[in-house]
Amino acid sequence: MLKKDVSDLLRKSKKWGWVLEPDAQRIFSLYGFETPKYDVAVHGDQAAAVARRIGYPVVAKIVSPAIVHKSDVQGVVVGIRDDQALIQTLERFRRIDGFVGMLIAEMVRGLELIIGSKNDLQFGPMILVGMGGVGVEIYKDVALRMAPLTLRDADNMLGELTARKLLAGYRGSEPINLAALRKTIMDFSRLMMDLKDVVESVDLNPVMCNATSCLIVDARIMLKK
Ligand code: ADP
Ligand code: MG
Repeated sequence: MLKKDVSDLLRKSKKWGWVLEPDAQRIFSLYGFETPKYDVAVHGDQAAAVARRIGYPVVAKIVSPAIVHKSDVQGVVVGIRDDQALIQTLERFRRIDGFVGMLIAEMVRGLELIIGSKNDLQFGPMILVGMGGVGVEIYKDVALRMAPLTLRDADNMLGELTARKLLAGYRGSEPINLAALRKTIMDFSRLMMDLKDVVESVDLNPVMCNATSCLIVDARIMLKK
C-alpha cells in the first residue's frame, strides 16, 4: 500500500502524465530519501524569504507542467547569491511556457550519479545506475539490472562502471559514502516495485553523493497512461 500523501500526489499529477519536481522530491522524502532543502515560490518577496531560510547560495529551477527538461530552456540557475539575482531569475522564469512557480533549493556538492528505472513490459522495473548529470547521454556509463535488486546486484552494478574509481576518491577528491549510496539504490529498487503499476519510468539525475550522504537533487517521475 502506498502512503496516502503519495497516492494524492500521484493522482494530482495524472493530468500532466508526470510528476512536477517539487512533488517528486516530496514523494522521495516521504519514503526516507535525502533531498536538498527546498521550497517553491511564486512571488518575489516569497522567493527571497525562502532563499534566506535555506541560506544563500541557492539553486533556482522552473516549475512548469510543460517543461520536463529544465536545463534545455535555461530553467536551472545554480549559485544564486542574493535577492536581486534571485528575483531577476524569477522574472525570466515567469516568461517560460506554463510557469507555475520557482523551486528554490540548497546548493549541494558531490559526485553526480544517475539512478533510474524503466518499466519493461516483460521484465517489470529495470534499474539503471551510472554516472549522471547533464552529461549522462555522453558518458553512457551505466549498469542495468532487473528489480528487485539484491545488495550483491547493487555492488556489482557499481563495480561495472568505468568511472567506479571516482566513487572511492580519485586524485584528491574525497571518497563518497558508499553505504549511503547502496542504501539509496536498494530503497529505490523497493520503491519502484511498489510503484510499478502506476509509474512508467523514473530518473533521479543527478543523485549527488559526497563523503556524508547521497541526495536526490532532481527527480522525474513519468506516469503510466
Ligand atoms: P534538468 O535535468 O531538468 O535539466 P536538474 O535539476 O537536474 O535539471 O539541474 C541541472 C543541473 O544543475 C544538475 O545536473 C546539477 O549539476 C545542477 N543542480 C541542480 N540542482 C542542484 C543543487 N541543489 N545543488 C547543486 N547543483 C544542482
Ligand atoms: Mg536532471
